[in-house]
Amino acid sequence: MGIAERYLRERTRVDEACVRFGRDPHQVRLLAVSKTVDVEGARAAYGAGARAFGENRPDELIRKAEALPDASWHFIGNIQSRRIKDIVAHADLIHSLYQEKHARKISDEAAALDKVQDVLIEVNVSGEASKSGVAPDAAAELVRAVASLPHLRARGLMTMAPQGDPHVARACFDELAALHGDIKSQLSAEQAQAFDQISAGMSEDWEEAIAAGSTIVRIGRAIFNEEFA
Ligand SMILES: *Cc1c(COP(=O)(O)O)cnc(C)c1O
Repeated sequence: MGIAERYLRERTRVDEACVRFGRDPHQVRLLAVSKTVDVEGARAAYGAGARAFGENRPDELIRKAEALPDASWHFIGNIQSRRIKDIVAHADLIHSLYQEKHARKISDEAAALDKVQDVLIEVNVSGEASKSGVAPDAAAELVRAVASLPHLRARGLMTMAPQGDPHVARACFDELAALHGDIKSQLSAEQAQAFDQISAGMSEDWEEAIAAGSTIVRIGRAIFNEEFA
């Protein structure tokens, strides 16, 4: 099975899961995480209908976004200060913001490009040392700081669940969704309206994420890796 077929299979599975869990399929975006393939791989998924892609390295983001400018490109990787300018120039949505100093720099770079940058706050729900993100009890404060910056728009929260156990993943996503609702209720009406995204779920656990309320599932291997069942 090639990339196009694999993309279509995942899109169908996601749509079916939405129906199963009482979710509107139009409210769940499938982000094709193309970080392991070259431009041609991304193009194959694009040909099958993929319109939103995720990259975790600035150089790959630039290369692929320039090759496929009609798609929406998202940055999902570790943010380094010196690459923020490049990220802001190419990303419609940044999923992985968790430091206030980066928020200020993103806002400055966005101002220079006359753009408002959409961002998600990455939360380390599981508390694993290997994972990035702000602690759940510090997330509200960071969202408020982000929302107060003129060229940033806080769009929601993102997390990565521990791997291996679907029940653990589900609990992690439920916690993220509860935190999202909590923070949203503390924002102004205008800020709350924009704060409508939950980025959760990857190849092995997107079904649990959709059940928990995710609005963006980030799927890499299930689309781009032949070895993935
Ligand atoms: C690589 C990556 C994904 C995709 O993971 P798969 O298991 O390949 O689906 C999703 N989110 C982030 C942040 C990633 O780095």
